[in-house]
Amino acid sequence: MALTYSVSLLYWSGKKWGAAASGVLVSAAAISSLYWPLIAALAIAAIVIGLVNKFQPQVAQGNMRSNNLREGVQHLLALSMLLVGVQFAVNSALLKAGVTPWLMRPDVGDAFLPIAGGIELKAIATLGIWDQTHPAAAVMLFVVLLTGLLCKRAFCGWACPLGLAGEYLYKLRKRFIKHEYLPPAWLDWPLRMLKYLLLLGLLYIIISMPSQSIPHYLSGNYHKIADLKMALFFVTPGLVTLLCFALILSLAAWRRQGFCRYICPYGALLGLASFLSPFKIRRNTQHCLIESKGMSCDKCTRACPANIAVHTQLNVRSDECQACMRCVSACPKNEALHLSTRNGIKLSARGLTIGLMLLLFLIPLIAYLSGFWVSQTPTETRMYLIQHLNSIGH
Ligand code: SF4
Ligand code: SF4
Repeated sequence: MALTYSVSLLYWSGKKWGAAASGVLVSAAAISSLYWPLIAALAIAAIVIGLVNKFQPQVAQGNMRSNNLREGVQHLLALSMLLVGVQFAVNSALLKAGVTPWLMRPDVGDAFLPIAGGIELKAIATLGIWDQTHPAAAVMLFVVLLTGLLCKRAFCGWACPLGLAGEYLYKLRKRFIKHEYLPPAWLDWPLRMLKYLLLLGLLYIIISMPSQSIPHYLSGNYHKIADLKMALFFVTPGLVTLLCFALILSLAAWRRQGFCRYICPYGALLGLASFLSPFKIRRNTQHCLIESKGMSCDKCTRACPANIAVHTQLNVRSDECQACMRCVSACPKNEALHLSTRNGIKLSARGLTIGLMLLLFLIPLIAYLSGFWVSQTPTETRMYLIQHLNSIGH
């Protein structure tokens, strides 16, 4: 659906050759897979996009306010992740009951195994070993990192379901307690560094594992059921885990994007990658009301959920910028604010949606067709291991 939507957006934004090339590529990929659910899904997606174009043309064509487009993308991706969660739960419950699952394991769930993904990327880089147990973990880590390198923390602002859940929690809190309790700058900075400390901890686990131990780890039972261990961690939380959850939820409710800003190690990784991104929010002083008309304006700053003083900067370099484009949307002057490269290549909300969708879905599709996506662990092995989940350690 996401890839079909990207083709539609490309077509309606005038990139007809791009739309044709992407359409042919995606269709050829689906047909060459000879996997009928993929072909059927593509056909259904094409019909749905066609119907949407008939009844809600502005949605199919992406001719919407950037805030609406972003929220639509966020909600659809969150819904997909919810379905993935249900599919994973059903598959695991059947395994636990000793029944061969009629619903396959959703490999994309391996995206929640960043340490495994990091170890697998290290194995590829240092040993040339391509793990076949959770290959999707490496693919998704690579994809998310790539989004950061190309378009800042757009993954956080446009795709992450946790970010969206945090937004709802914050809005709920604001209904009952209107006041903003922002920490002073001297406290905000060390709190922001917390996520980098957590990232450092995760990186330490990956880097400190000697290369020669990696094959042993990748062929071990712990790695084979790392996804089930992760699920068990969330389903049967201990007291410490519950306290951590409570802290995370309170942070998200306390300040907007509190979890992304202070705790999330993925956010930290993307924040670091975002420094290299060629696309940044840039303010054009020839058009901005402040310099061009001598007026006082800070609409962009007031719209920014990350509290970045956009109206005082020429280029927003902050690692907290999620490329959400709320500032661009709030700006009363058309040409004053853009997500663009240094030499003036602009990325509209529609362009960002297309780029993100292609990165998030085309690379996994290519990985799938190349045989580096589906776990090769036999169902019988998982069924056996899930019965001994608690006794398996690393
Ligand atoms: S600077 Fe603009 S794009 Fe970046 S987080 Fe703030 S509102 Fe979003
Ligand atoms: S909202 Fe637009 S016009 Fe106003 S300060 Fe920001 S960039 Fe300038």
